[in-house]
Formats: sequence, C-alpha cells, structure tokens
Amino acid sequence: MYKNIMDLHVHTDNSFDGNHSVMHMCESAQDKGLRAIAFTDHIEADIFKEHRFDRVAAQAYFDISKARSAFYGSLIICQGIELGQATYDLEVSEELLNKYNYDIVVASLHNLRDGIDFSVPDYDEFDDETIEKLLHEYFDELMTLSSWDKLDTLAHMTYPLRYICGEYGRTVDIKKYSDKIDIVLKNLVDNGKALEINTSGLRQKIGTTMPDESIVKRFKDLGGKYITIGSDSHYAEDIGKGIAEGMDIAVRCGFDSIALFQQHEPIPIKIE
Ligand SMILES: [Zn+2]
Ligand SMILES: [Zn+2]
Repeated sequence: MYKNIMDLHVHTDNSFDGNHSVMHMCESAQDKGLRAIAFTDHIEADIFKEHRFDRVAAQAYFDISKARSAFYGSLIICQGIELGQATYDLEVSEELLNKYNYDIVVASLHNLRDGIDFSVPDYDEFDDETIEKLLHEYFDELMTLSSWDKLDTLAHMTYPLRYICGEYGRTVDIKKYSDKIDIVLKNLVDNGKALEINTSGLRQKIGTTMPDESIVKRFKDLGGKYITIGSDSHYAEDIGKGIAEGMDIAVRCGFDSIALFQQHEPIPIKIE
C-alpha cells in the first residue's frame, strides 16, 4: 500500500454528470485515507456561454473554498477544473483562468469541433476507415491542445477508445497514430506539463487506464517529468479507485514521484 494517495480528477454535483456534494466527497476521501484530492468539475469551453458554465465555475470555486477551510490540516484539497475543448474557444478559456485562482487545470477533449461527445456515436455504424479518420482528427486536436501552455495536466488521453474499444469492442491499431502521440507527449515535455493517468477505464469495459502503460512509458522516454493520477470519479464511492494501480504503472515506467499541483506548480511527491 502506498503512503500518499492523491486523486487529482474528481467530479462533484457541480458537474452536469456528478452526483455528490463537495463536502460528501471530502468525507469519503478522508475515510479512505487520501492525502490529497483535486475537484475538477466540468467546464466545457466550446459551449461555455450557451450553457452558462460561468455559474458552474463560480459555484464550484465557492464550494471548494469552503471545503478547504473545513478540512484544513487533514486533507489537501486542490481547486481544480476539468476544462474541456479549451482550444476551441481560447478567449473564454483564458478569461476563466485569469478570473479564478486554480491549483490545477485538467485539460480534456471530449469532442471534435462538431460538438458530439465521443461517447455518443453508435460505432457499430462506423466502418474501420471512418474510425481511423475520427481518431486521426482526435489526435490532431490533442496536438493543438497539448501545445497550449495554460493547461497543467492532459486528461484521459485516448478517451475515444473507452467507447470504440471498450463499449463497442472494436480493435484499434494504436501504432497508426504513434507519430501524433509523440508530438502530443513532446509538447507536454517541452512545456513542462504533466500527463494524467486516468484510472476510470479500470472500472469500465476497456479495462485499462487512459492512456495505457505503453503511452505513459513513451512519455517517460521522451523526457516527461510529471504524472498526475485521477480516478475521474463521479460518485463518492469511486474516489481513490485505481490510484494505487496508476502508481504501479508510474513506477514500472520509471517515475519515482507523482505530481500534486498548487497554484499551477507541480509538486513532486515521492512514491513510497
Ligand atoms: Zn473528461
Ligand atoms: Zn472527468
């Protein structure tokens, strides 16, 4: 059992798909003996205005601030945000990050510029070529996103595979995208950013972390310094799930610390 379990990707009921309050999530984290937790409720930059994500951001920030006071000294609570599709509306994204004093920006990509989440399509209707094209477009967008210097960690890289491979059982040859994956990882390395090991896949049909170990290893080989680990839990009972397995992967890939973030600064916490 590891000493410092840190879950840096957690959703509360301030997320449209969340379920439990910040306080309830904190109690659960404390019961499970976590050292740190980052609340990262969804803010989707590309639909920010029409869905009034300004209100979500304000409420989440307020709730997390209160929880930090309540749990001061017993649980490290990071002010975070899962910012989706940041590069589709940079003005909205940067204005938001200037407004709030976040510890960690978990940057994700849930959809292409057409706005349909990768969880939505019926992939049985897609032939292999269509899937290949979709994944090329996904990695193209990730290349753009990973070069944006305002993110702190890149969330659930290979997210579409959760559905394409996990839910629909299709086989994807990841080697076809290795040039693009390398560019994404190099962008993170060059900007001193972290790569997230998202453990939600371990609880789902895909059965692996996102990204999987081979990509984490490649990140290390390309000079990657910082890893964050997040359960992406949307329920209190899922907090901390898979974090130890994520740490196992980090160790096998040659990392000796996991990053905690405070005020966008990575703080390496030794794996022990
Ligand atoms: Zn996400
Ligand atoms: Zn998430």
